[in-house]
Amino acid sequence: MQKEKKLPSGYPDTYFAATAVGMRDHLALAGTERADVCVIGGGFTGLSAALNLAEQGFDVVLLEGERIGFGASGRCGGLVGSGQRKDVIETEEAFGYERSRQLWDFAELAKNEIRERVTKHAISCDLQNGQLVGVHKKRYQGWPQELSDKLAERYEYPHCKSLNAEQTRALVATDGFLGALYDSQALALHPLNYTLGIANAAANAGVRIFERSRVTSYSRTEPALVETSQGSVKADFVVLACNGYLDKLERRIARKIMPINNFMIATEPLGERRASELINGRFGVHDTRFVVNYFRLSEDHRLLFGGGENYRREFPADISKFVLPYMLKLFPQLDDARINYAWGGTLSVTVNRLPHFGRLEPNVYFAQGYSGHGISTANFAGKVIAEAIGGTATRFDVFAGLPTHIFPGGTLLRYPGMVLAMLYYSLIDRL
Ligand SMILES: Cc1cc2nc3c(=O)[nH]c(=O)nc-3n(C[C@H](O)[C@H](O)[C@H](O)COP(=O)(O)OP(=O)(O)OC[C@H]3O[C@@H](n4cnc5c(N)ncnc54)[C@H](O)[C@@H]3O)c2cc1C
Repeated sequence: MQKEKKLPSGYPDTYFAATAVGMRDHLALAGTERADVCVIGGGFTGLSAALNLAEQGFDVVLLEGERIGFGASGRCGGLVGSGQRKDVIETEEAFGYERSRQLWDFAELAKNEIRERVTKHAISCDLQNGQLVGVHKKRYQGWPQELSDKLAERYEYPHCKSLNAEQTRALVATDGFLGALYDSQALALHPLNYTLGIANAAANAGVRIFERSRVTSYSRTEPALVETSQGSVKADFVVLACNGYLDKLERRIARKIMPINNFMIATEPLGERRASELINGRFGVHDTRFVVNYFRLSEDHRLLFGGGENYRREFPADISKFVLPYMLKLFPQLDDARINYAWGGTLSVTVNRLPHFGRLEPNVYFAQGYSGHGISTANFAGKVIAEAIGGTATRFDVFAGLPTHIFPGGTLLRYPGMVLAMLYYSLIDRL
């Protein structure tokens, strides 16, 4: 895991931690607990699994090594896209219409579940509607029309439209986009506040949450014994929900993912007028680059901007300096804006960019590798793992049946191969 500066609260110094609502302290595990299910990891995957399991009547313990939302979930861009990481043009080509439709429908359910959770638990997470995907090069100019037509005609989704350069410029003040896809039903949210909201709902539903409780090992037995340095949990089922922060806990799934670091900055408050001149509305934006730029306005009129990634164990020494060129390339008019926050986080990608779900033992479930499309997929992963533990694995098995590959070189040598591949794709971005 990255060595990074932490605030006294135990969170990294992010804009989201500075504006967190609903933070509760949970004790560290001490002694022995018994549970039906032990969930490892307190991000979207683990919390969604825990909440859905508790709602089904399971007795659940959740162990988080740091604080709730400490991982990617509490520091990500907050853009909740429609569909999967690969669009329906690609999934239809790879799997045919029926499977592609199923994956699309699951993603729609996932988005709706996020909306419902926010309302049901009154989660104050600045939920916004809409997402603009800016086309950064000529080759993709036909893509918004092709995708919006396909979604309307074959997926009963009439909410996307193709924008030309002028219409795009009226919404986002950059010369960097040649056109765009606008999806009025995608979402954006304050990721840490959503995570904390789900954690509080889970705790209210009876989940016993322990923070600062890093799992050091678990046994391949029924029940399993899950151990931390101070205590243990005996549980009939285990859910591994550690994603990019898995490290060495479970080598059998570590070799199917590659942890990568992604970075964000938050400008100073720009004032309502300047902010709305930049983005005309409150919605998420990203572009069509392989190393994607993503951004949106915060409630207090800052630009929250994500751009750039690295494939090493360390974050760059000066994250602000690292991300700034990406922002200024799109918005040179912000060259006088001060940067108040800069941070990084770790997510995981798979070889084929499809999520990786499965069972390692009859009583050990996992989901990971959302490849940058984690908010809706991770939330849905928790739901379908809970369903599977409850005895209905139909939806879980659709995801578990997606093809997966081992990174060449396994956990030891995947970095050099990945770096070469990523450098190749980021070069293509620029060409
Ligand atoms: C900077 C950044 C921006 C992103 N932007 C977006 C975006 O805009 N939209 C989108 O859809 N996705 C985005 N993502 C990806 C998304 O955030 C992730 O896919 C998602 O949050 C994964 O959720 P998770 O619960 O699986 O993992 P995480 O949120 O990473 O949670 C894993 C948790 O497990 C804990 N853990 C690990 N090991 C142990 C252990 N041994 N014992 C106990 N606990 C342990 C960690 O401390 C961590 O809290 C972004 C990611 C990053 C880093």
